[in-house]
Amino acid sequence: MTTRYADRMEGVKPSAIRQLLQYGADPTIISFGGGYPDSSLFPAKALQDIFAELLSGPGEVSLQYTHSTGMPKLRQQIASRMAADGIACGEENVLILQGSQQGLDLAARLLINPGDLVATEAPTFLGALIAFNTCQPNYLAIPMDEQGLMTGILEEQLKAGKRIKLLYTVPDFHNPTGITLSLARRRHLIQLANQYDFIILEDSPYREVRYQGEKVATLKSMDTEGRVIYFGSFSKILAPGLRLGWSVASAEITEKLGLLKLAADTQCSTLNMAAVSMYLERHNIDDHIQTIKAQYLRKKETMLSVVRSEFPQGISWTDPDGGLFTWMEFPEGFDTAKFMLEHAVPEAKVVWVPGATFFPTVQRDNFARFSYSTHGDEKIIKGMTALADLLKKHL
Ligand code: PMP
Repeated sequence: MTTRYADRMEGVKPSAIRQLLQYGADPTIISFGGGYPDSSLFPAKALQDIFAELLSGPGEVSLQYTHSTGMPKLRQQIASRMAADGIACGEENVLILQGSQQGLDLAARLLINPGDLVATEAPTFLGALIAFNTCQPNYLAIPMDEQGLMTGILEEQLKAGKRIKLLYTVPDFHNPTGITLSLARRRHLIQLANQYDFIILEDSPYREVRYQGEKVATLKSMDTEGRVIYFGSFSKILAPGLRLGWSVASAEITEKLGLLKLAADTQCSTLNMAAVSMYLERHNIDDHIQTIKAQYLRKKETMLSVVRSEFPQGISWTDPDGGLFTWMEFPEGFDTAKFMLEHAVPEAKVVWVPGATFFPTVQRDNFARFSYSTHGDEKIIKGMTALADLLKKHL
């Protein structure tokens, strides 16, 4: 029997995050759910001036179609920022994307046949699973510890005969856990990719939001065989509404991703690309990133200080060196989704993202992701204190 929809729609289901975003719109609820950057940190005035200037001209540059791979100047600017981060690359290696989310979708279409095995951290970024699911893969879930993805376990699986097509990782300030993959594990991962011939998708939108500790070399910088596709984004360092991200890959892969980009949406917004290019030319984005980082560090400290002093025994959490999230583990048997809907929403007016949604295969209920990026200190303290009081009653 034929059905109306293509087979690939089997894996396309509404996510729990949608429901959470509804809570985000309710002003009486404090949401630690969505990983939204703090909108007061967007460089609105600078962008306002830039957009006004771009639109006061004849429109040939900023309102016309441009290359599907992205505005050449912006590609060069990104390539030189990436080179400064240790990735040897040129314009031909950079593709401008509609956010890095688009890169995950295009990479899935480039690489995954139905039934192919895709390895991910467990837990992993939900948006990646949503993108991959349209290509009907099977998942190999690799657990994490405080050094990130456990490459030893991956190696055991590979030795046992599991053949993976690609591995998806968020090595810097991982979403949802905030954990950073150690240098030794990065080296091991590259060695395994070379030995067992798989592609690595290195998704690193939080990389530049490191507020403490030394940065760790990217996987892409260790890639000698053209098997790593790196994804970056302006969402967390400028503004997500611009919808601009990028990939860095071999010229061959970049060209193929570019063909898929052409099929998907022709190109990113010329106006937005021109604006970001002008922003990078006129302003020191690194100074802006410093400002952002100082704010997120403070917000993290605010959240974790309430957690440390007020939360009851039996809960543990990560203390990330960057990014926007902390990941909490509750006692076995405690269902963070159930508790949220039955108690936290009605009694404390607080929401978060229950951990179960982030697991690609076997879901685990006793975890939760808290984002500290969106609110000011007062709301963070209010929400977390109300939650602590509630937890004391129920744990
Ligand atoms: N990857 C990860 C790990 C993310 O957390 C996000 C945003 N939440 C994205 C990709 C997508 O970001 P964007 O499309 O806004 O660049």
